[in-house]
Amino acid sequence: MSSIDRIFADTFGQSPDIVAAAPGRVNLIGEHIDYSDGFVLPFAIADQTYAAIRIRPDRLVRIASVQRRNKIVSVPLDDIKPGLKGEWERYALGVIWAMGVKQGLDIMIDGHVPLGAGLSSSAALECSVATAINHLFSCGFDLHALARLAQKAENDYVGVPCGIMDQSVSLMAQPGSALLLDCRDLTSRNVSFDVASNGLELLIIDTQAHHSLTDGGYARRRQSCESVVAKLLVQSMRELSLEKLSASKDLLSDTEFIRARHAVTEIARVHSAVAALEAKNFVELGRLLNASHASLRDDYNVSCPELNAAVDASISAGALGARMVGGGFGGSAIALIKAVDTVGTIHTIENAFKRASFKAPRFFTSLPSQGAQIIRRG
Ligand code: ADP
Ligand code: MG
Repeated sequence: MSSIDRIFADTFGQSPDIVAAAPGRVNLIGEHIDYSDGFVLPFAIADQTYAAIRIRPDRLVRIASVQRRNKIVSVPLDDIKPGLKGEWERYALGVIWAMGVKQGLDIMIDGHVPLGAGLSSSAALECSVATAINHLFSCGFDLHALARLAQKAENDYVGVPCGIMDQSVSLMAQPGSALLLDCRDLTSRNVSFDVASNGLELLIIDTQAHHSLTDGGYARRRQSCESVVAKLLVQSMRELSLEKLSASKDLLSDTEFIRARHAVTEIARVHSAVAALEAKNFVELGRLLNASHASLRDDYNVSCPELNAAVDASISAGALGARMVGGGFGGSAIALIKAVDTVGTIHTIENAFKRASFKAPRFFTSLPSQGAQIIRRG
C-alpha cells in the first residue's frame, strides 16, 4: 500500500476509490502577462500533490491534508459556496463547487510541492482534486475546461485573482518540454526543453521571503494593465507594439506606461525564448531570462531585495541567465546554470544571503516533468 493509501485508510477507515497527482510548476519566461492575453512558457516540476478520494453515500465532504497534520475538516456539500469561511481546504472545496459535484466525498491530500514558494502548490492541489473528480464521476471535461474550472475555484471561491497559467501547465505538461501557452484561447504546444543533455540544470531558489504587499500589489498591476487597454482602445496588451505604446505615452500615467512596457516586451521575449530553445541556443535563452528579470524589477516593480540577490549572485557565479518567477515580492527565482556549477552557485547564493542577513534560501532542481495523471483507481 502506498503512503497516501495508508494515510487515507488510517484517517477515514477505508481505501480511496481513486488517487490522482498534479505537479507544481516553474514559468521559464512570460511573467505577469497571463492576464494580459499573453504567452507563457512554463514547465511542470517533478514534485507533485496527491489527492486520494472516496465517494461517500451521503452529502458530507470530509477533507484532510498531510501538510495540515491530517486534521479532518467536515463540510456539508450544500454549504460549499463562495463566502463560506475556511482555510487551506477552500482550494479543494472550490474545485468541488466549480465542478458541480453532487455527492459527498472523503479526500486526503499529500502535497510534495513546497507551499507558498512560488511553485504553485495551490494549482497542484486544485488540479489533483479536479483530475480525480473528473475521472471518478466520468465528467468528461477536457484539459482546457478542467483548467478553467480550477482557475474559477481559485478566483471565485478562494478569492485569489490568478491567471490561467498554473492550472494549465499542471494539467497539460509533458516531460522534457515546456508548454507554450496562449493565454487568450488556451491553445498550447510543447517546446522541447532538454536541459540535461545539454549539460545544463535549472536551479530553483526559494528565497523564503514573503512580503505582505502581495495581494494588493498584484491586483493594482492588473488594474494598470486594464486601464492601459481601455485608454489605448486595444483588445489586450498583445495588440500593442513597443512603437505604438511609445507613441501613446502622453495618454498614460508614468506608472501605466512602464507596466505596459513590461507586458509588451515580455510577450516578445517569450517568442524569442521559443526560437532560442528550438535552436538550442541556451546563451540567448539566458540573456532573455536576465532581460525578463530587469523588466520585472524596474518596470513592473514586483521584485524584492532577496530575489535580486538570488539573481545577481547566480550570474556572478557564472549562470547563463536568471530571473525571479511567479507573482513576486518574494518566492522563488530560477537560474539556468551549467550542471557542473550547481554546488558552486548554491554556495555563492548562500553567502550573498548571509552577508545581507536574509533568511537562508532553499534550493531545488527539477527537470521538466509530466502533468496531472491518475495514479490508480481502487
Ligand atoms: P503557491 O501556490 O505559490 O505555493 P499559494 O499561496 O498560492 O502559494 O498557495 C499556497 C496555499 O495553498 C497554502 O497556504 C495552503 O492554503 C494551500 N495548499 C497548497 N498545498 C497544500 C497542501 N498540500 N495541504 C494543505 N494546503 C495546501
Ligand atoms: Mg498559488
